[in-house]
Amino acid sequence: MGVPLSQMWTVASYVLKQKLRRRKRYPLVLMLEPLFRCNLACAGCGKIQYPPHILKQELSPEACFAAAEACGAPMVSLPGGEPLLHPQIKQIVDGLVARGKYVYLCTNAVLLKDKLDLFTPSKYLTLSIHMDGQEDHHDFAVCREGVYQQAVEAIREAVGRGFRVTTNTTLFEGADPNSVRAFFDEMTDLGVEGMMVSPGYAYPKAPDQQSFLNERRNVNNLFEMIFANRKRRWKFNQSPLFIEFLMGMRDYECTPWGNPTYNLFGWQRPCYLIQDGYADTFEELMNETDWSSYGRASGNPACQQCMVHCGYEPSAVDHTFSSFGGFWATLKATLFNRYANPAAMQRLEEEKGKPHGPDLALHTITIDGKSIASLIKEKETEAA
Ligand code: SF4
Ligand code: SF4
Repeated sequence: MGVPLSQMWTVASYVLKQKLRRRKRYPLVLMLEPLFRCNLACAGCGKIQYPPHILKQELSPEACFAAAEACGAPMVSLPGGEPLLHPQIKQIVDGLVARGKYVYLCTNAVLLKDKLDLFTPSKYLTLSIHMDGQEDHHDFAVCREGVYQQAVEAIREAVGRGFRVTTNTTLFEGADPNSVRAFFDEMTDLGVEGMMVSPGYAYPKAPDQQSFLNERRNVNNLFEMIFANRKRRWKFNQSPLFIEFLMGMRDYECTPWGNPTYNLFGWQRPCYLIQDGYADTFEELMNETDWSSYGRASGNPACQQCMVHCGYEPSAVDHTFSSFGGFWATLKATLFNRYANPAAMQRLEEEKGKPHGPDLALHTITIDGKSIASLIKEKETEAA
């Protein structure tokens, strides 16, 4: 298992309490964005597009604590932007831990080694490192060379000092399933506690719209190759039923209120991914949002291809605790998690001969009708 028993127990008892209270909608993870600015400029990012006067602002520690208390979720994820750029990130993390929250500090790790002294290892604090694959793939995704190596050094240091460390990976169109599996080996060798993987979502503001996985069947196909025929030593820090959902083994409807988002503008409607306005209070978000307008069944075009963890992981967790069948499915998926599948293994072999990631870009981006790869080849031939 990629999650310690004490955290599993806290989450399980929280969800069961909500069920006993017959609470129809409850939050599982608060997505708390203390700022939007970042020290990277990834092509797929929907946060760093804000104007400079917004990027300069940040939430105060008090505003963060008030949001965590109003929401009541047992886990708080601190994405951004880059939260390590927040001048009071230590106070924010310490204050949330003191309130008994399981905190996931999401970072691109560029500053992590220098900032580790700010934090104290604790079962409540997990450093969740943004890693989008092996070195070439990650540096391509974050649009800067050397970031993968910086992150690897930071992970080594943090694991060595006794911190809980996980990785979070977003996979885009052109992801190489063989490389992703090799990446799992690399992260496992580094000693991370668990890995989280999600398909990307087409942010309306993202400059590189074509890079997102936009067909659910492509997502299922990719994730089946990645997660079937699994190595025993790989650990995942996410619901096993969510992984089965990504592999196409089960279907869920989105739970947009499961991971509510609070940031500089207030409580974001309806979810972490799309912005249909903001509520001033958590109560207003939960009680006055027209939830029937979201999720695939609603017909909302923005939701049709979405399979992102912040909408569907809460659905998987709710399934676990909603019935004996859900609990049994989770137990089975936890104990028998190899998913032997010769057909998926065969497809994985076939993928080895195809271009992916940075290579795929070389083959699909054209200048005057010619791919960059063919232009490079022409130049090499001329030079020879
Ligand atoms: S590291 Fe995260 S917040 Fe920063 S630019 Fe990349 S995706 Fe955006
Ligand atoms: S389906 Fe995706 S985009 Fe739509 S509400 Fe759910 S999480 Fe948000």
